[in-house]
Amino acid sequence: MAHAVIALGGNVGDVRATFQKAIANICGMTQGALLARSSDYATPPWGEVAQERFVNACIEIDTSLDPHALLFTLQKIETKFGRDRAKERRWGPRTLDLDLIAYDDVSVQKPELTLPHPRLFERAFVLVPLAEISPDRVISGRSVTAALAGLSTEGIERLPGPV
Ligand code: ATP
Ligand code: CA
Ligand code: CA
Repeated sequence: MAHAVIALGGNVGDVRATFQKAIANICGMTQGALLARSSDYATPPWGEVAQERFVNACIEIDTSLDPHALLFTLQKIETKFGRDRAKERRWGPRTLDLDLIAYDDVSVQKPELTLPHPRLFERAFVLVPLAEISPDRVISGRSVTAALAGLSTEGIERLPGPV
């Protein structure tokens, strides 16, 4: 089994309900076991700022899928929950975004799959939930907590449970 970190995001529809169902699908469709799930966080939009705020969360799973198969499965789940890449803009509104943040210590440099996720360390909306469940994790030689210390967390708000 491999260990994977997945970031969830969305700002269209009932995102928190989508997350719950998507996480059940992730476990079912990736032959995965859920190891940890962060709280949900309301976060300011990133990249394209004139849109609704996002909800973000992170999970950790054990999976028997290889990284490409895992990403392919995550994309199928995005589609199942209303994601339509043909109709969206980069970093624009979406029902569900599932990014593979890290997969064991695997490093991949391809456009269709880059590991660890190339923009991870620029994004408090990923590092805040990840630090909640895995503060001591080291990715690409950097600790999650130390990386987060260098970023602004302004506007990020933990949403009350149940998650
Ligand atoms: P960002 O990657 O900056 O978070 P995004 O999530 O909005 O942006 P998408 O449109 O969801 O981008 O994905 C664009 C492409 O990124 C996908 O076709 C996918 O193959 C590729 N990709 C590369 N590495 C990863 C990764 N680690 N996790 C998810 N997608 C990835
Ligand atoms: Ca993303
Ligand atoms: Ca994505």
